[in-house]
Amino acid sequence: MSPIDEEQLQGLKGLRNFLRVRTSYDVLPLSFRLIILDNDLLIKKSLDILIQNGIVSAPLWDSQQSRFAGLLTATDYINLIQYYCQFPEHIDDVEKFRLSSLRDIEKAIGVLPLETVSVHPSRPLYEACSRMLKSRARRIPLVDIDHETERETVVSVITQYRILKFIAVNTEQHTMLLKQTVREIGLGTYSNLATAKMTDSVLEVINLMVVHNISAVPIVDKNNVVLNVFEAVDVIPCIKGGAYDELKSTVGEALTKRPEDFQGIYTCQEDDRLDSIFVTLRQSRVHRLVVIDDNWHLKGIISLSDILKYVLFTGVTSDEAELSAPP
Ligand code: ATP
Repeated sequence: MSPIDEEQLQGLKGLRNFLRVRTSYDVLPLSFRLIILDNDLLIKKSLDILIQNGIVSAPLWDSQQSRFAGLLTATDYINLIQYYCQFPEHIDDVEKFRLSSLRDIEKAIGVLPLETVSVHPSRPLYEACSRMLKSRARRIPLVDIDHETERETVVSVITQYRILKFIAVNTEQHTMLLKQTVREIGLGTYSNLATAKMTDSVLEVINLMVVHNISAVPIVDKNNVVLNVFEAVDVIPCIKGGAYDELKSTVGEALTKRPEDFQGIYTCQEDDRLDSIFVTLRQSRVHRLVVIDDNWHLKGIISLSDILKYVLFTGVTSDEAELSAPP
């Protein structure tokens, strides 16, 4: 890794200042829809709703107490699958579980519940980013208080993806200064990479994601050439309609169930500069970058959290640290 150069530092400071003066509200489009699911809904039904609406997560609402009850994500379905594997004799319960049972499922399989952090939409975007990174959440609900009822209301959910897109689209004057390469700044993970083969079962890949606490596994051939990436969200169509047996099918078969508008995977090389990665983020729907060599051999993986962490925490000067201290 090389030391950070002056121009790069200026670029990063510019991005951090931008995140301090913008709020989460700024990231939201002028008009958007928000699908909130009632906690009493059957988990089975929630899958259909996500698929029908082309979404992969939704806030949950406790209508008895009229309050926000957490965020439903692909991880919850992965937990359900683990439950099914650990207690196959309870398959009838699996069919009857409601979204409100998700916390009991976590307890039964012994995973720690994800912290349900939320942020007020008028707080600086910097705060939403650092909360997300600290809690390892990939998305964060924007929760406000309705002045008439004094009750919580979910305004929207912002993701790492949306924030990086917002940065990439609005701060070209800063991102163009980020000329150090992926190799120079050590961006991403390059050792102990979790990979799988096309012939591995979906269950094996899910297990890898759980053990490594990651949301994507590159699929390689016997020569370590990258063929595809299996993502946590690819699990959703696999268990549609309670077809848990399909989890025993191969990754290759599961990947054929992707939506028709799936845009493919994105790659980069270690000699690519960070400014060019921001150009890719600006132009495409990137959720992670697979780092390859000239012959498509797998070298590493750069997740959105790797990029966001680099932007937020690299080369922070003491005067900047004061600005970022929580109120
Ligand atoms: P997302 O990519 O879903 O937005 P994220 O940015 O938190 O979420 P993860 O895929 O969960 O990404 O990655 C978390 C950390 O693990 C990152 O530092 C990333 O470089 C690393 N990582 C990601 N995939 C793998 C993998 N297959 N093997 C080893 N490490 C990985």
